[in-house]
Amino acid sequence: MKRFLFGFAALSLLALPCSFAEENASAVKLRKIPDKLVVLTFDDCNKSDRAFVAGEVKKHRFGATFYVTEGLGFLRNKDHYVTWKEIAELHGMGFEIGNHTRTHPHMPRLSKERMKGELTHIEKRCEQYKIPRPVTFCYPGFGHSPTCVEVLTEMNYLFARRGVGPEFKDGGKGARGPAYDPRVDHPLLVPTTGYAGPDWKFEDLVWAVEQARDGRIAVLCYHGVPALEHPWVNCDPGDFRKHMAYLSKEGCTVIAMRDLAHYVDPAKGPGDPYAPIRARVAGKK
Ligand SMILES: [Zn+2]
Repeated sequence: MKRFLFGFAALSLLALPCSFAEENASAVKLRKIPDKLVVLTFDDCNKSDRAFVAGEVKKHRFGATFYVTEGLGFLRNKDHYVTWKEIAELHGMGFEIGNHTRTHPHMPRLSKERMKGELTHIEKRCEQYKIPRPVTFCYPGFGHSPTCVEVLTEMNYLFARRGVGPEFKDGGKGARGPAYDPRVDHPLLVPTTGYAGPDWKFEDLVWAVEQARDGRIAVLCYHGVPALEHPWVNCDPGDFRKHMAYLSKEGCTVIAMRDLAHYVDPAKGPGDPYAPIRARVAGKK
């Protein structure tokens, strides 16, 4: 099914002006993963996504993914959460809009049908606001299962981001996690290398960037800047500015999740998606 997607993309190039088509035809060949390749993601539709984060990220010409959900307080508190119009603006600014489900449920508890319903709802909303169908996903509350991976595969998602565990301890207030190793990890179980919160300090960001070498990629996750309703995953705007300035100073290549497809073939992955996770956990003992 993924091949069909790429085939379709290749066909659509035929309709484009020659130089653009040539540029994209060559882009299909995977690029070498540079050291300090960083994926930047923002979960949960916090108001700061549009009001603060987008401008700061844009200043550095970084890519980023905003993972949208209509769960949490999205439907009841528009002072704390972005509107769909603002989400459409984020798309218009060149950012990726990723799927983070309709109601932000613990996915492993749901039937396959309900999982699909959660995903389809966000896809339909995107269509309504002229945002391309999301091609990457983020597990709400970091909860995933083999069935979720199956559903995402069936629905042609290319990459999905999980949390820092079980390889790293997660106290729920920001933590370090594994670097994403595309030679090992399944593309629908991309780990988070660091997520912001009171327990995740500047030195943890530095550590995450240090992990991004020899083919491994650092995947960062932020929630609100600030996270008005979820202080345990808060990042202060001043700290966030310092983080972005650090990525810039270090010469990091900072991309959205979907841009991983320039470096990694999402059709490839281990036969058992969970084998690499088990191996890492076993290796740490
Ligand atoms: Zn979330």
